Amino acid sequence: MGQETVIELKDVTTSFFSRKQELTVVDRVSFSVEKGETVAIVGESGSGKSMTSLSIMQLVPAPNGKITNGEIIFNGEDLLKKSKKDMHKVRGNDISMIFQEPMSSLNPVYTIGEQLREQLMYHQPLSKREAHEKGIEMLEIVGFARAREMMREYPHRLSGGMRQRVMIAMALSNNPKLLIADEPTTALDVTVQAQILDLMRGLSKDYDSSIILITHDLGVVAELAQRVVVMYGGQVVEEAKIDEIFDKPLHPYTEGLLNSMP
Ligand code: ADP
Ligand code: MG
Repeated sequence: MGQETVIELKDVTTSFFSRKQELTVVDRVSFSVEKGETVAIVGESGSGKSMTSLSIMQLVPAPNGKITNGEIIFNGEDLLKKSKKDMHKVRGNDISMIFQEPMSSLNPVYTIGEQLREQLMYHQPLSKREAHEKGIEMLEIVGFARAREMMREYPHRLSGGMRQRVMIAMALSNNPKLLIADEPTTALDVTVQAQILDLMRGLSKDYDSSIILITHDLGVVAELAQRVVVMYGGQVVEEAKIDEIFDKPLHPYTEGLLNSMP
């Protein structure tokens, strides 16, 4: 770890524009993620964590939201200079994102298997049969013991934790170089949270995945991340290795955050 930078943000700035004013919600944000590394982004609600990840994906809500400055270097290229079409490919092939609420991303009228197969066949030249087997394999990776049966289920029949695991399987189905997880366990109960976190830990260990993990839970950060980026008011106010930040936080906000830990 540490030899190969997967993504580097340099002074990324994102604003919302209304008739009267410009509101900067991501303010000159810079940080990088190395291969195999999990970087956590923490910060209070509204500090710009989600907008930072949506900026990376170039999914900032249009028409009012705009990335106004900076570079996002991925694979040696600035994502902000890519065409819409090329960025679409990056989202399909290289960077995957999972969100807080998994139900909204699954289609209720198709089975898990149909959705996984479609996702796989979109990215890889697989026959339906091959995609089906690969789908089962993906569901096994995310911890379903009865993956073959799971392929036949409809989303509403699954618990929140199961749906989130399906979403992770979908997100991983194209072997992304980078996984962005925006509060992936917030909507889940504690035992399921632990399962998802175990899963993510396994991914970075066994598959050398690079992960940006957004959370407000410092316990999760301590368990999973090697580095942490602290955001406040749209800015990165601190960036440190995990042991450093728990030892001696530099920014008063970080200190407050640590003191509020249970
Ligand atoms: P976090 O994920 O850290 O809770 P967000 O990145 O979602 O914070 O939000 C950062 C800021 O951007 C907040 O002040 C929020 O109100 C603002 N914001 C988010 N979405 C929009 C939008 N569609 N229009 C205007 N402002 C927005
Ligand atoms: Mg958010």
